[in-house]
Amino acid sequence: MSRPITGATLVAGVAGSPVAHSLSPLVHNAWIAAAGLDAVYVAFAPHADGFRAFAEGLRGGAVRGLNVTIPFKADALAVADRPSDRARRAGAANLLIFEADGTIVADNTDGIGLLAAFAGHDPKFDPAAGPVVVVGAGGAARGAAAAFLAAGAPELRIVNRTRAKADAIALDLGSRVQAFGLAEATAAFAGAAAVINATSVGLTDPQSLALPLHAAPDRAVAMDMVYGRSRTAFLVAAAARGLATVDGLDMLIGQASPSFEAFFGRPPPPVDVRALALAHLQAGP
Ligand code: NAP
Repeated sequence: MSRPITGATLVAGVAGSPVAHSLSPLVHNAWIAAAGLDAVYVAFAPHADGFRAFAEGLRGGAVRGLNVTIPFKADALAVADRPSDRARRAGAANLLIFEADGTIVADNTDGIGLLAAFAGHDPKFDPAAGPVVVVGAGGAARGAAAAFLAAGAPELRIVNRTRAKADAIALDLGSRVQAFGLAEATAAFAGAAAVINATSVGLTDPQSLALPLHAAPDRAVAMDMVYGRSRTAFLVAAAARGLATVDGLDMLIGQASPSFEAFFGRPPPPVDVRALALAHLQAGP
C-alpha cells in the first residue's frame, strides 16, 4: 500500500521543460517506498525563461532539493550560492539543494553517473586507459569531458557538427582536450579507449549521425547518453562492429543515486530500478 502524504512529508523533485517523460520520479519514488521514507519526488515544468524565479522561490527549503534537466542546467549553476568544483568545471548543475538558511547548493552528479555506467559494464574499466572521444558539444558533452579529465583520461577528443562549439570546450578545459569537426571523426576515433555519443541524436533519425566506428580499436567501449525502449542506432552499430556497449539508462540511475543521498541523507536501498525503468519505457506510448 502506498504511504500517505503527511504534513511532515519531505518534497524533492526534478525540474525540466519538457519534463513529463522524465524517469527520475519513477526511480526516486521506488527508492523512497523501499526505504520507508515520509517523502515524495515530483516533476516541475517551470516556464522556459522562468527557472531562476522558480528556484529563488524555493530558498529556505520548502522543497528539499531538485534535480535539473534540459534546458535549465546552466541556469541552475547560475542561481547557486555554493556550486561544487565539478559543477563549475562542467558549466552546469543537475542537482540543487535548498538549505534551511536560504543558501542554494549546486552539484553535478552526471559525471558520477557516466563513470558509474562504465564501471557497471566492467568494474575494471579504467577511465585513464586511453583517449576518450565525446561526440557532441552541448552541456552533456562538456560534463562528460570534465568527468573523464578529472578521472585521469590522458586525452579528450570532442567531435561536433558545429566545430566552433567543440573548440570552445577545448579552450575552457585545457591542453588535454582537442576539437574535431564531424568530417574529422575518423582521426578522432583512432586509438580511442571509449567513444561516447553525447548528441541528442538517438532513437530517431539514426541516419543523421553516421560515425566511423570502424576506426575505433576492437577494445573500445561505446556509450550512448540517450536511452529509450530499445537500443539506440549508435549502440546497434557499435555492437555490430563488435564493441562493448554501455547505455544511457545506467548513467541516469548512476546520477540519481548521489542525488537521492543528498536529498534524504542516506544511500538508496537495493531496488532494481533499471528493470522498473525499462518496463515503463516498454509500456510507454
Ligand atoms: P544540447 O546542449 O542540446 O546539445 C546537443 C548536441 O547534439 C550538440 O552538440 C548538437 O550539435 C548535437 N546534434 C544535435 N542534432 C545533431 C545532428 N542531427 N547531427 C549531429 N549532431 C547533432 O544537449 P545536451 O544537454 O548536451 O544533451 C545531449 C543528450 O544527452 C540529450 O539527448 C540528453 O537527453 C542526453 N543526456 C542523458 C543523460 C543521462 O543520464 N543518460 C544525462 C545528460 C544528458 P551542434 O552543436 O552542431 O548543434
